Amino acid sequence: MVDAFEFARRGRVLAGAFDVELLERLVEGLPVQPESDLPKAPGMPGAPGVVVYRVRGLIGKDGKSYLSLLVQTRLVLDCQRCLGPLVLPVDHEAEFELVRNDSDLDAGATELDAEDFDRPEKVVGSPRFDLAGLIEDELILEVPFIPRHEQCPGAGGEPLGPQGDEPAERESAFAALAALKSKHK
Ligand SMILES: [Zn+2]
Repeated sequence: MVDAFEFARRGRVLAGAFDVELLERLVEGLPVQPESDLPKAPGMPGAPGVVVYRVRGLIGKDGKSYLSLLVQTRLVLDCQRCLGPLVLPVDHEAEFELVRNDSDLDAGATELDAEDFDRPEKVVGSPRFDLAGLIEDELILEVPFIPRHEQCPGAGGEPLGPQGDEPAERESAFAALAALKSKHK
């Protein structure tokens, strides 16, 4: 918990690492994450089960308050194609504009939607700002809806399913035919 506006005004930086299991909302829908070895590898990026983060507060040229967030981890997911474990490396940077209250969140959003596309997302800053919650929200967004290996291990690069199987079957049928023909010659 930090005072978000104070954090931005003073240009503070907060960095560290924690066990991914602490993010209950995130790990709820995920398979068991590797056990972290934080005491042995404090803050080591890429260590299994560890979330490494850095938050920087700043005041923009526009005089507004911003938080700049970097979060790195490796999440273990279940591949929805082969059901095997899939390690998703996360190296995510995001910037947030701090606003005073909920009604500021969508102020100006209607007329400037297109131009605002690149603008940092707005979050409500408070004297007891939940940084861990922000980190957790960002990580949840990084988890694909249907996680899949680009190439499932053991699948030999052939996509499974009827479309993938058909050409392979036809090929082997031709090969079998060719083998028969050559035998009869
Ligand atoms: Zn897979």
